[in-house]
Amino acid sequence: MLRTAGLCTTNEIQQPKRERYAKIAISLKVCDSADRIRDTLIHELCHAASWLLDGIRDSHGNSWQYYAQKCNSVHPELPKVTRCHNFTINYKIYYECSLCKHRIGRYTRSLNTERFLCARCRGPLVLLPLFRKDGTPIVPHVRPFAKYVQENYRAVFNATAGISHGDVMKRLSKDYFACKRKKKS
Ligand SMILES: [Zn+2]
Ligand SMILES: [Zn+2]
Repeated sequence: MLRTAGLCTTNEIQQPKRERYAKIAISLKVCDSADRIRDTLIHELCHAASWLLDGIRDSHGNSWQYYAQKCNSVHPELPKVTRCHNFTINYKIYYECSLCKHRIGRYTRSLNTERFLCARCRGPLVLLPLFRKDGTPIVPHVRPFAKYVQENYRAVFNATAGISHGDVMKRLSKDYFACKRKKKS
């Protein structure tokens, strides 16, 4: 579960006797604070209560709303129990398009920037500096080739009409390593 804050699975067993059960899962990647875990758990518990106590599975219908309102009237200090969890996802890693600056979040460095392009403008993606939980930046090890791509992509792309991303990358890599060899000799 990466994008869903929580999930309540409801069903019943037939043997040895018919019995309803509910299973709640919480995504700790999305619920990355105590408040979020609490709010998500309450929301999912309302689904569970509706099924276990009343045998009703009506999504966020009357039965779910009954328990949600009950939570708020018993504990008025809690935020209003809402139908959906509107959490902004705090990714650890961001990639940015060098052309249009569109950002893509990931939990790990899973994106291969030599193969994937910006979905909006097909520009090249660059890994952004990482931040610690307290907001201070982690000085990244900038790979020289990534920097070279960032600086030269647009020029190579614009020089040949209809050139594909793969071919731009091939050309950049050829130029970069040729340049490096020249510097060494
Ligand atoms: Zn729900
Ligand atoms: Zn873009």
